[in-house]
Amino acid sequence: MQINEILKSYFGYDSFRPNQEAIIREVMQGNDCLVLMPTGGGKSLCYQVPALAMEGTAVVISPLISLMHDQVEALKANGIPAEALNSGNDVTDDLIIRRRCEAGELKLLYVSPEKLLSEIPYLFSNIKISLFAVDEAHCISQWGHDFRPEYSQLGLLHEKFNGVPVMALTATADKITREDIINQLHLKGQTFVSSFDRPNLSLTVRQESTKKEKLKFIYHFIARRPDEAGIIYCLSRKNTEMVAEALQEHGIQAEAYHAGLSAQQRASVQERFKMDQIEVVCATIAFGMGIDKPDVRFVIHYDIPKSLEGYYQETGRAGRDGGEGICIAFYARKDLRKLEKFMENKPVAEQDIGRQLLQETAAYAESSVCRRKMLLHYFGEEYHEENCHNCDNCLHPTEKFEAKDALLVVLESVAAVKENFRQEYIIDFVKGRATDDIVSHKHDELEEFGAGEDMDAKVWNPVIRQALIAGYLKKDVENYGLLKLAAAGKRFIKNPESFMIVADKEFSDDFDGAPLSEHNTGALDQTLFSMLKDLRKTVAKKHKLPPYVIFQDISLEQMATMYPVDMQELQNIQGVGAGKARRYGKEFCKLINKYCEENLIERPEELRVRTVAKKSVLKVSI
Ligand code: ADP
Ligand code: ZN
Repeated sequence: MQINEILKSYFGYDSFRPNQEAIIREVMQGNDCLVLMPTGGGKSLCYQVPALAMEGTAVVISPLISLMHDQVEALKANGIPAEALNSGNDVTDDLIIRRRCEAGELKLLYVSPEKLLSEIPYLFSNIKISLFAVDEAHCISQWGHDFRPEYSQLGLLHEKFNGVPVMALTATADKITREDIINQLHLKGQTFVSSFDRPNLSLTVRQESTKKEKLKFIYHFIARRPDEAGIIYCLSRKNTEMVAEALQEHGIQAEAYHAGLSAQQRASVQERFKMDQIEVVCATIAFGMGIDKPDVRFVIHYDIPKSLEGYYQETGRAGRDGGEGICIAFYARKDLRKLEKFMENKPVAEQDIGRQLLQETAAYAESSVCRRKMLLHYFGEEYHEENCHNCDNCLHPTEKFEAKDALLVVLESVAAVKENFRQEYIIDFVKGRATDDIVSHKHDELEEFGAGEDMDAKVWNPVIRQALIAGYLKKDVENYGLLKLAAAGKRFIKNPESFMIVADKEFSDDFDGAPLSEHNTGALDQTLFSMLKDLRKTVAKKHKLPPYVIFQDISLEQMATMYPVDMQELQNIQGVGAGKARRYGKEFCKLINKYCEENLIERPEELRVRTVAKKSVLKVSI
């Protein structure tokens, strides 16, 4: 079968996302590759499609049993023969799986790295392996946030299985981790970097700062979204429990999750969240990698995140299915100071890094620049759009003003102190504040000292932050965050040009609500949508599967917009392949049909026309 056919008939999608096809072709030619894609970007398809197209069994190495289990469940629901080998299996399970591999029946085999290493000698000797996929590959790196020692031995793969392509996949973007993966796995092929933008995530920073204000906002927010799944991140265990209790008192199914709970309690929260029996999990960042739930609709940061990298990974758990994902963070200067104070007990070097990371978060929160632009800039990616239409700053834009003179002062000052100082130092310098530090360097004697004395003191932070984004300045992150002149900055000094910027947020005024995502506001039939969701719940219960494995939100939304009434039409709905249509489709079609008749609904032409034009691919053979 062609890869496009596989995509349609097994997964129910019409087209590949950026990079997916190129990656798939690369592996099918027998080449290694490294795949960097954000969470929700569609990494799994990159090895699942070649696994189906190639002869033999694809071996997927995955760090957590729960992740493996979820993936195998989802594959089986799509009619794809897949199994997992892990320490939870008994000897008979393993034996059966091995036989099925030898017979060439299994297309995908998930294994934990320990299991893989211990079983290389006999388990894999008679199996035709099509490819190795190393999922969550950043676990190999000590720099990565989830280092796992077992991963470091995976370099063996190339040695033991000559000629079998190895594909490594991760959502971690930084350069050191990337190089570690390539070196340790001895990857010889290309690296595919996707954009880390997640356009379906709306980003908002809010200024509620007291417990009462924050909780009030959260109640109202959740009350408007019955039955939607969300995560609320808190920095302390105490807060997770406090918020969960407060929500429970308002009749919301909420639970706390933190490292202080027993493994069993944690597993239970995860499982019930997956099954839609808990709506909101109030968690510390311990609630992380195991969360593969694609229909998390909102992520709220009750406390300010400690770093932008963490913030990005945590918000990334919203909207993995491509549907709406609302991300709201509360930010107050007093919390920032509280966190800085906590750090005082730590070793100096650690304090320093911690402060720098916090400063980045503060800059992000206080800025009026597009949030997406700032986040992507932090990961070294340039965002070209003027307005993202899905962050608070773009939806409530602030007026721009000319900051040409201020930028010139900053750039000349950075040059005057030999590009060897940080933002705070530069700001003191341009303001003409003779701090001890400045006097000790004799910088108060320089001609440029105090060149910005007469300007508005509030201009300096936004000028510097926006000059960084615009590429006039560079920050040497590995080196204490020293400010350096970029080439464009040097040109600017010789030949100043207009530099329009926005002022930072004044941290007192109120701005309302989360941005409304533009996603699917049109023809969605809400009544039918909730009926379909109820049906999905019942079906899921019957099959003991999480509801999203039956059909994802996005598929139900399309059904409630297009009203498919037979199996052919159903397969034109995004995410509905032939396997799923056959397994679960009937009841859904029946419900929609009945609903249309009872409510005299005129179904849109679209589906019917497409169905005629395109013969569907109902017959699947493996
Ligand atoms: P990742 O592992 O990168 O976090 P997944 O592989 O779980 O992402 O994919 C995220 C979501 O995107 C899933 O719901 C998946 O079905 C969907 N998806 C992946 N590829 C496509 C595609 N080509 N078209 C539509 N949806 C896709
Ligand atoms: Zn924006």
